[in-house]
Amino acid sequence: MTSQLEKHHDIATVAIHGGEERGKAHDAVTTPIVCTATYTFSSTDALRDHFEGRVEREEYGRYGNPTVRAAERKLAALDGAEDCALFASGMAALTTTLLAMLKSGEHVVLTADVYRRTRQFVGTFLAKFGIESTLVPPGDLEACKAAIIPGKTKLLVTESPTNPYLRLADIPALAELKKTSGARGLKLLVDSTFATPINQRPIELGADLVVHSCTKYLGGHNDLLAGSVAGSEALISALRDTRGVLGGVLDPHAAYLLLRGIKTLALRVERQNQTALRVAQWLEAHPGIERVFYPGLPSHPDAALAGQLRGHGGVISFLVRGDLDTTSRFIDACKLATIAPSLGGVETLIEQPALMSHYELTTEERLKIGIRENLVRLSVGLEDADDLIVDFSRALESIAPAPSQASEGSEVSADERETIRLPKAKNLSAAAKDEALSHVR
Ligand code: PLP
Repeated sequence: MTSQLEKHHDIATVAIHGGEERGKAHDAVTTPIVCTATYTFSSTDALRDHFEGRVEREEYGRYGNPTVRAAERKLAALDGAEDCALFASGMAALTTTLLAMLKSGEHVVLTADVYRRTRQFVGTFLAKFGIESTLVPPGDLEACKAAIIPGKTKLLVTESPTNPYLRLADIPALAELKKTSGARGLKLLVDSTFATPINQRPIELGADLVVHSCTKYLGGHNDLLAGSVAGSEALISALRDTRGVLGGVLDPHAAYLLLRGIKTLALRVERQNQTALRVAQWLEAHPGIERVFYPGLPSHPDAALAGQLRGHGGVISFLVRGDLDTTSRFIDACKLATIAPSLGGVETLIEQPALMSHYELTTEERLKIGIRENLVRLSVGLEDADDLIVDFSRALESIAPAPSQASEGSEVSADERETIRLPKAKNLSAAAKDEALSHVR
C-alpha cells in the first residue's frame, strides 16, 4: 500500500512520501533498487493470472520495474496527474510520446522556442513519416489559433519557461484555445522542465500532458539522465505500451537516484528561486551587464504571466556588455560557476549558448534565432548567494579593462578554436553525415 497522502498535504510532503510503499521490503525506510532484467512465475497458472489481468505484477524489465514504478507514482502525485511514465532521458520521453500520439497525415503545432532537439525531432524525423508541423512565435495566441487545422492537428507542444530567454507560455489560454478550436482530440503537452512541479503544475492549468527532463531539477545532482510524462491513466498507459516497443526505459539505479533527488526537491527549488532572484537583481544593476532575462524581474517580457509560477526558477540569462571573447573571458574567470551544459543541479553551471548549444551555427544563423554572442545562461545551484555574487563581481571586474596586447596575441585563432573545441562527430561535414545515412533513407 502506498503512503496515505491527503489533499491538504504540502508538495514538500508529497515529494517525500508520494508514490512510496508504506511498508517496504525488509522494513527498509527507502525504496530498494530492484535490479533484475526479468521476473519469475511460480506456475503457468500464475502466468495466465497476469496476462488475463487478475494479478498485477511485473513480467519483463522493458515493461516495468518496481523501483521505476515508485518514482513514476511519486512524479504523478507531484504533477497532480493520474499516472506517469519514466524514460531513459527527457528526449526519450518526448520522442516516444510524439511517436505514440501522432500518425502519418496528422499535424503538430509547436511554440518556436521549444527545446532545440524537440524541434529537430519534429521537423526532421516526424516529417519523414508524413507528420506535418507548424512553429508559432512564443506568446502569439492568434498565430497558434491560426495554425490549428481541425481534423488534422492533434497536438499542441509548448514549453514554459523556455531556454534561454525564460519566456512564459500562457498555459490556461492555450488550454482554452484547445477547447474552442474545434479540433477534435487535440491535446496540449507542456514541457515544464525549467519550472518543476514546485513552481508550476501545468495539469491544474489545463494541460493534458506534462513532460520533465528529470535530468535537471528533479534528479537535481547532475548524476542521472531521465525523462517523465504525466497525464491521464489512458494516455500514460498508451505511452507505456509504446515505450515497451521502442525500449527507452529507465534503469532502476537511475530511478533510485531520482527518488532520492526528489525528496529534497522542494527545499532545493525554493532556495534556487531565492538565490536566482537575488543574482538576477544584482546583475541587472551592474554596469558590466547589458540586459538580464529572468521572469521574476519586472523588466522580463512575460512579467505579466509570472503569476502562473509559484517561484521563478533557478535559470537566468544575461547579455554581458562586450563581444564573444569578452563574454568568454568573464565565464572563464568565474571560480564557482562551472562551464557545462544542463541546469537544475546543486552545482552552479554557466555557459555561453553561442559556444555551447549553438556552436555549429554561424554568427548569422545564431542571430536569426536570437542567440547573441554575448549571451550567458546561468543555472544557479545551492551555493551561498553572497559567495556567487562575489565570484561574478570579481569575474566582471576582470573583463572591465581592455585586454593587453600580450594576451590578445596569445589567443587562438578562430580556425584553431574550431579544431580544438569541436568534438570529432561535429567535425564531419553535413554532406558526410548525409552520406553516412543514405542507406537508411
Ligand atoms: N526539455 C528541455 C526543456 C530541456 O532543456 C532538455 C535538455 O536540456 C530536454 C527536454 C531533454 O532532456 P534530456 O537531456 O534529459 O534528454
